[in-house]
Formats: sequence, structure tokens, C-alpha cells
Amino acid sequence: MVRPLIAGNWKMNGGRADGLALAGELARRARRADAARSAFDLLVCPPFTLLLAVAEAIADSPVALGAQDCHPAASGAHTGDVAAPMLAGVGCRYVIVGHSERRANHGESDQLVNAKAAAAHAAGLVAIVCIGETEAERTDGKTLDVVGRQFEGSLPPSVTPDNTVIAYEPVWAIGSGRVPTEAEIAAVHDHLRTLARARVPGGERLRLLYGGSVKANNAAGILAIANVNGALVGGASLNADDFWAIACSCP
Ligand code: PEP
Repeated sequence: MVRPLIAGNWKMNGGRADGLALAGELARRARRADAARSAFDLLVCPPFTLLLAVAEAIADSPVALGAQDCHPAASGAHTGDVAAPMLAGVGCRYVIVGHSERRANHGESDQLVNAKAAAAHAAGLVAIVCIGETEAERTDGKTLDVVGRQFEGSLPPSVTPDNTVIAYEPVWAIGSGRVPTEAEIAAVHDHLRTLARARVPGGERLRLLYGGSVKANNAAGILAIANVNGALVGGASLNADDFWAIACSCP
């Protein structure tokens, strides 16, 4: 069985005090739970400004650190951007690439996401590659085509089950409180597993997360779906009780 990953995307939220309190509380719970062999991996992805402080708050705990984006280049004249080796240098093990908010707000294409994932791999980071359909695409019956195209286009040749995680996040479910039915999630994840087996050596082990309005009260059902290997959590990851409850819902 693939060990589930519960990842928190804090987005552009949190000052230093809030972030340290949240990270510190999760680290305390994870240290205690680790002794009892918890059944999940836990990850927090704070804004760039909090990475160093959060790295200290979760030191010596099983909580991992990730960032929310990286530039495809390893260094250079890219004002305002952050390179993957810089993230690795402050203790990140993961980086989210291709989140739908970046695809929409910054016009990020599959080609750019692909280059960012390759940069993450080159820096020794695990790339969490986000894909997902819009509401119009779902209504038009194009969901599997869209996620299939994003899957193929966003993954560089360097992909392995150890350096990549896929997050299926329907755009219309993010931050909306609306969630696909369990059958709809299962259909997409089964399709992604088929693609992963065909494309990635060891694709059976490639983690496939679901994201989009995962909450403490719906997590157990979602996390029990075949081929769902964890969750990418936005809003509910900003509260330690809620995020921990989601993690503890892993089968
Ligand atoms: C996200 O932005 O990755 C996300 C899943 O957000 P939310 O859980 O708030 O829908």
C-alpha cells in the first residue's frame, strides 16, 4: 500500500506568529503520534517568507516542509522568483507546481509546469504537480481528457514515484465547499493510475492526492477511495485541529 501524504497548502496566509503556532502544534502532535507509528506523512507548505521559521518549528519532528512554487531556472536574473535549490537550502523537501491558482493568475502552461517540476527534481525536491478541470470542462464531459493532457504535459522525463506526487484538484472544488462525488473522484484517480502505470516506471507507487474542499467531515470517505493516496488541503490546513483530524482520517 502507498503511504498517504497529507499536505497543507497555506497559500498567501499567515504572519510569523500564526505560522509558528500552527507549525509548532502540528510538530508536537506528529512527534507524539510517530511513536505510535502514524499511518500518514504530513507536509506543510507555508509562504516563502515563513519557510525558515517553520523549518525551525518542525525540526526533529516527522512534519515535512514544502514551498508553493519555484522558478524553472536554478539561479539568475529573475526578480521576485525563488529557485528550487534555494528551497532545498532552507530545508524544503517538496514544492507544489502548477497549482490552478498559478495556472489561472499567472498564465502557467503545462510546458512551464513541466520545467518547474524538472527543476525541482534537479534540486532533489519532490514536485507536487497539480492538475484538474474547470467546471465548464466537467460539464462538457472533458474531465478525463483535460487531466490526461495535463498529466502528460506537466511531467518531465525525470519523473519517478519517489520524486513526484500528483494532486488532482478540480478547479471548481477549490475553496468552494463543493466536492465531486466519491464515484467521480474514483473515476479520475483510476484513470490517473492507468496513465501512471503506462508512463512512470513503478507507476503503481506514484502518489495520487485529491484536493478541493477536503475537510475533517469528508476526509475519511475521500481518503478511503481506491487510488487516492492522500490529500492536498487548503483552507482546512490553517487550523491545527482540522488538519490533524484530516490526517487521522487516513485508512
Ligand atoms: C488548494 O488550494 O490546494 C485546496 C485544495 O484548497 P481548499 O482545500 O481550500 O479547497
